[in-house]
Amino acid sequence: MCRTRRSRSPTSSRNNAPTWRIIKTKNTIDGLLAGLLVACAAAALPAAASTDYPPAIWNPAASCNYSARTVSVSHVAVHTTQGSYAGSISWFQNCSAGVSAHYVIRSSDGQVTQMVREADKAWHIGNSNGYTVGIEHEGYVANPSAWYTTAMYNASADLTRDILASRALAQKVYDGASGWNAVLPDANFDVKGHVNYASQSHTDPGSGWDWPRYKQLVTSGSGSGGGATPTLTWPVVQYGNTGERVRTVQYLLQQWGYSVTADGSFGSTTLTAVKNFQASQGLGADGVVGNASWPALTVLAQQGDSGAKVRAVQSQLVESGYAVAVDGVFGPGTDSAVRSFQGAKGLGVDGIVGENTWNKFAW
Ligand SMILES: [Zn+2]
Repeated sequence: MCRTRRSRSPTSSRNNAPTWRIIKTKNTIDGLLAGLLVACAAAALPAAASTDYPPAIWNPAASCNYSARTVSVSHVAVHTTQGSYAGSISWFQNCSAGVSAHYVIRSSDGQVTQMVREADKAWHIGNSNGYTVGIEHEGYVANPSAWYTTAMYNASADLTRDILASRALAQKVYDGASGWNAVLPDANFDVKGHVNYASQSHTDPGSGWDWPRYKQLVTSGSGSGGGATPTLTWPVVQYGNTGERVRTVQYLLQQWGYSVTADGSFGSTTLTAVKNFQASQGLGADGVVGNASWPALTVLAQQGDSGAKVRAVQSQLVESGYAVAVDGVFGPGTDSAVRSFQGAKGLGVDGIVGENTWNKFAW
């Protein structure tokens, strides 16, 4: 039978020191998927819960729509869904589809859903499935200005950066110089569009995908959060420091799966976690959180989200005098406080904690 597993669930805590626990729901069928899963009775499961990209929601594709890899990942393929975010997710959970992608990104806010583990082979690009990670972007190639939002570019660039960094792959992102529909040698670019791979019939992401912008976002690491400017200055946080800024680093480390206590004291455990995080991101592992590590560490947070990143936001709001509970649940009260904070800091008021808002929190 087909079964689903959730990757990570935050365990509620009243002492602001949440832990992350791997939850394995063996031999259960998610109610939402039950109707679709009947058809994939013999399919195999992913070997373990996803830890590929903690900012993503894990909502697995039906295992009849992907298979095991036989070669390692070396490339990223940029796609357009030609349909809605929700519709694409639903389709990849339907065994009738015979297709899937590792990730789907929502146009409106850049929300990322992971559906196939990177270690598995999603079916998104025919003869290039074996060595690629596929990212589907919500929208239509015929209407790029309506669908290819800043939030989606930023979220996608962060994801691609992570995929490359975790494998120590060079950031050879297509710059658009040869035209949007050129078939490009794999050796020259390891991040390119569906249309740019050999022997493809699809045209996504189309002529409206901004490759120079995307390349800049991936290579500079400036995609974190909506509308970020690429040259923010961040405070230096390092071993021996104490305070709210350290607590934010600790919460964000928790969000990325590291086991640290958010006590606001930068001790040896935090130092080790920072170094491991830096190494995982292809950054210099010096244990110092500054201009390079902050943008990599911050994760988009907005209403409806939960977990350690939300506690980081809430704890910062409390520090700034807002009366919000540090409960890890980004509800209307937190949304309201974030908007108020953004207004007070001269930021765009959208309730979305992206890189600019994190930066103001950090200072
Ligand atoms: Zn495609």
